[in-house]
Amino acid sequence: MGVIQVAEHIYQVRLPLPFRLDHVNCYALRDDDGWTLVDAGLHWPDAEAAWRAAWAELDLQPRQIRRMILTHAHPDHFGMAGWVQAQSSAPVYLAAEEETFARRMWMAPAMEVAASAQHWRSAGAPEDVIQRMEAQTDHLQRMTLPHPTALATIEAGITVQMGGRKWQAIHAPGHSEGQLLFYAASDRLLLCGDHVLMKITPHIGLWPTSAPDPLGRYLASLDALAGLEVQLALPGHRHAIHDWPGRIAELQQHHAERLTTMAESADGATAFQVMERAFPAGLLSEHELRFALAETLAHLEHLVIRRQLNYDDGGVRVYHRRE
Ligand SMILES: [Zn+2]
Repeated sequence: MGVIQVAEHIYQVRLPLPFRLDHVNCYALRDDDGWTLVDAGLHWPDAEAAWRAAWAELDLQPRQIRRMILTHAHPDHFGMAGWVQAQSSAPVYLAAEEETFARRMWMAPAMEVAASAQHWRSAGAPEDVIQRMEAQTDHLQRMTLPHPTALATIEAGITVQMGGRKWQAIHAPGHSEGQLLFYAASDRLLLCGDHVLMKITPHIGLWPTSAPDPLGRYLASLDALAGLEVQLALPGHRHAIHDWPGRIAELQQHHAERLTTMAESADGATAFQVMERAFPAGLLSEHELRFALAETLAHLEHLVIRRQLNYDDGGVRVYHRRE
């Protein structure tokens, strides 16, 4: 963990996560009149200690934090926003779709439970698995407390001044509905959230809260961003990205292969059955099982939109290949 300077006035702060993903990268950007933090971490004691250690190392007093910007509202990015706000009084900015997601998932989660169980049921998940998956949501929800008292929304296209540069906000959907990336054309830096990551493929899942076809929107967004001139991309997990078009090409290839294998194994199967064929059995924790199923659904529903699959729906969706 710790703090690494990644560019002039920009520091990567690596915070621990209590699951296999291991860590999340947040960023602290310095200006003459204070600091901007990009992303907040998941709230648990080790992450509090890590923020405190990072602030000491950067000689940053919490009251010097001018604002927080969240690339998206997944718990590992949103979870400590309220804790940081409590000490700094800094406003928290995020895209409107992400604010909606945070309110549904973290701030009023009871509303989601019924819709969510139905979503997994129609994917063919057994009832005991559904119950265990719901328990995971509760567990994560607790690690987003306390919540920020105020959230402010920002839109794609606006320019933000931070770390001595101007950054343009770019909408990059797929991993989450409203994820925003920030691009500094002056030195071709990109804060790329979880849109493009090294070593691991960003999670693209169809969740109860997702708009239709997240994979289609993700792939379209990768196409649109492949030509962006990026010298260094700073992601939410793992290492910085130096070969932007090269990494995008690998991710495109990965999804093309996944779509092919899933199309082949989807004949007469539910999403849950396709997931069991696509992911190594027994290796998935409860937490990972939900992601694997959401990811399988995103691919299958994309194949339906592409007219390679159709389905019978008698409460549980059974997919078939189209002739
Ligand atoms: Zn994420």
